Amino acid sequence: MRVLITGGAGFIGSHLAEKLLACGDKVCVIDDLSTGRLENINHLRNNNNFSLVIETVLNETVMDRLVSECDVIYHLAAAVGVELIVKSPVATIERNILGTDVVLRLANRYLRKVLITSTSEIYGKSEAVPFKEDADRVLGPTTKSRWSYSCSKAIDEFLALAYYKERNLETVIMRLFNTVGPRQTGRYGMVIPRFVQQALKGKPLTVYGDGNQYRCFTYVDDVVMAAIKLMATPQAVGQVYNIGNDVGITIKDLAAKIIAMTGSASQIVYIPYDEAYEEGFEDMRIRKPDLSKAYNAIGYKPRVQLDEILQRVIDYFKEKKHD
Ligand code: UDP
Repeated sequence: MRVLITGGAGFIGSHLAEKLLACGDKVCVIDDLSTGRLENINHLRNNNNFSLVIETVLNETVMDRLVSECDVIYHLAAAVGVELIVKSPVATIERNILGTDVVLRLANRYLRKVLITSTSEIYGKSEAVPFKEDADRVLGPTTKSRWSYSCSKAIDEFLALAYYKERNLETVIMRLFNTVGPRQTGRYGMVIPRFVQQALKGKPLTVYGDGNQYRCFTYVDDVVMAAIKLMATPQAVGQVYNIGNDVGITIKDLAAKIIAMTGSASQIVYIPYDEAYEEGFEDMRIRKPDLSKAYNAIGYKPRVQLDEILQRVIDYFKEKKHD
């Protein structure tokens, strides 16, 4: 199989590239290195089945060639991280909507199957937990930039489903819930790499809000396996799947756990959301997936649980010594 991974130098994309190469596939990565990093994929560059193009997916000339030369596409290139999204809403909206538009248009030109990576942000601040794929979405106003991410990804989903319904293009959508693991950076806001680095440096762990918000963290390898299985499952075409973990923790308990696991002398500081992000920032209290649809389709069950995830991330940063 010749596989094209957009955003393949990113945290999830690089793990996916590694796994597909190990399965014997030929992998081409396109990444503009906006949030992706060469160090994530440097170890793959000697592999004859691996190729890298440093370019944006918005470059249609380059993308036309890459799509024509592949069999399937994993589309992961996107703006990531709530902090980045709040700071750069223009880039978020453009990258997510226009990027997916290019990918789907070209996939349709060459009849290539596409897996679209979406997000649990789709559910917004809905309180109907656990979230089912066909549940209603609850979003705040357009004056709050955070919601632009949810809306941009929703347009991506609409477009992918429309290509399937109207043009018979094979598309599959997965909604990811707080994916974590080695190579994820804390630079764009993600809580686990941040807390682990703060704890290892003996700095205060910055809990936003009252810390009672609840998240379920998913190990990156579970996501990668799910993506590969969804791509290989004919009944997944034209469908949307939650991929995550359904066991979670509050952010203040997470901070305490990381302090204990690292043996750190760090304290916890509470920072109001307005200060951490922007004035009037809205967060969701509980985010938790219903995984029954993914289980029925591909037997999906998260295999790596929080303590093990944290240990792997702690070991990664201990070895790495910098972000
Ligand atoms: N968070 C925090 N301190 C940080 C970074 C994040 O308390 O330094 C909180 C954030 O406000 C959210 C949760 O941790 O409630 C998870 O944040 P992340 O950015 O990892 O993912 P999100 O769930 O916001 O997509």
